[in-house]
Amino acid sequence: MTEENESPGRSTRRGFLGRASALSGLIALAGTVAEVAQPSDAFAVVAGFRSCPKCQTLWSAAPPYGNCPAGGTHEEYGSWNYSVKEQPDGGAGQTDWRICAACECLWWSGTLAKACSGDPNGHRISSRTRPKSRYYLVEYGTVPSDGLLRQAGWKSCDNCSALYFAGPGAPPSRCPNGGAHVGVYSWAYNLRYTVS
Ligand SMILES: [Zn+2]
Ligand SMILES: [Zn+2]
Ligand SMILES: [Zn+2]
Repeated sequence: MTEENESPGRSTRRGFLGRASALSGLIALAGTVAEVAQPSDAFAVVAGFRSCPKCQTLWSAAPPYGNCPAGGTHEEYGSWNYSVKEQPDGGAGQTDWRICAACECLWWSGTLAKACSGDPNGHRISSRTRPKSRYYLVEYGTVPSDGLLRQAGWKSCDNCSALYFAGPGAPPSRCPNGGAHVGVYSWAYNLRYTVS
């Protein structure tokens, strides 16, 4: 898949440069996109995750928008529509990923709650305004050649445990721990996406 390693940043530019080219791209990819939604895809996926263009963090884009470590709230403009699997549905992937109820990032909850841009005590799995997060799977390792649109280059941050894009051409990231995200110890994750 030629777009596999394209960064959200490049898709951002495409978004700004004109809807016409984005639409023609969509039509060209229509066959592949339809494949994502086919029931033959054994494991259900949850879509609606976006890569924030200000901090590169993957977040669940549901209002009210979570705080962004780069200031203001996370944004979703220019991002593809990423999806992950729910853990009970099974399939390949690392377990124990959850959506933070304070900052809306997808973070690995198998460790102590780490730096969060929405709560000084770290990521949390529920709040008064958001229901308890489910468990999600994030795929890693060799990117499968299964005909689905997948983007490699995702890492989990050593300092905040959030998933963030660090592939070729990735713009500078921002971590709630200060500075940029750090992925020295991260596995190599990949995410399914659609261009919508
Ligand atoms: Zn952000
Ligand atoms: Zn958080
Ligand atoms: Zn971080």
